[in-house]
Amino acid sequence: MKLYKQGDKSKAVCETCKDVISTTFDYRTVPFSDGSGEVKNILVAVCDACDAVIATPPQSTPAIKNARETATKSIEVKLPAPYLEILDLAAYRIDAMASTSFRKSLLTYYIHLHYGLIKTDNMPKRSIVKSYPKKVPTKRLSLKVAPRLYDEFEYIMDATDLKTTGMIKEIVQEIEKDIVRPKKPKHLVELQRLAMVTTA
Ligand SMILES: [Zn+2]
Repeated sequence: MKLYKQGDKSKAVCETCKDVISTTFDYRTVPFSDGSGEVKNILVAVCDACDAVIATPPQSTPAIKNARETATKSIEVKLPAPYLEILDLAAYRIDAMASTSFRKSLLTYYIHLHYGLIKTDNMPKRSIVKSYPKKVPTKRLSLKVAPRLYDEFEYIMDATDLKTTGMIKEIVQEIEKDIVRPKKPKHLVELQRLAMVTTA
């Protein structure tokens, strides 16, 4: 494969100029088309006529992938404290060394699981949402996730007709049913591996 360098010339079709033009390789900061972030100073082919970014060589692809993965979206909810205690008890059951930072791994694992089920037409059964007395404190839960995972979360909210808080409550109750209550927790081996690598 050819390793391009700054100043190299090439030819390509420019969408703006609507013509085959000559391009020059140069470093640019390129925003993602969906506006969720940008990738700084990567080598790209630039149109000599209008300066538009025309193409990215293969050597720039891993950097783009990395920037995309690290551009995070945020899921923010306020939940009655027992919901977080369920998550933490589940985390403890999976790995006694796990800290509250494992909440995120556990939730994202279940979001992905839920997504997989819905995609294959196995809509999980809706739990009865528990209500707690007013004097139970509420706590904030903030999840920073990759756009890909956020898309899955939006997809399952759409499919289940639930809003953010309702969806997170639903998932926490699923975790309680799968991991906290049973004698033999579900997905245990996989989740223990996950705990091992995310707390490493
Ligand atoms: Zn052009």
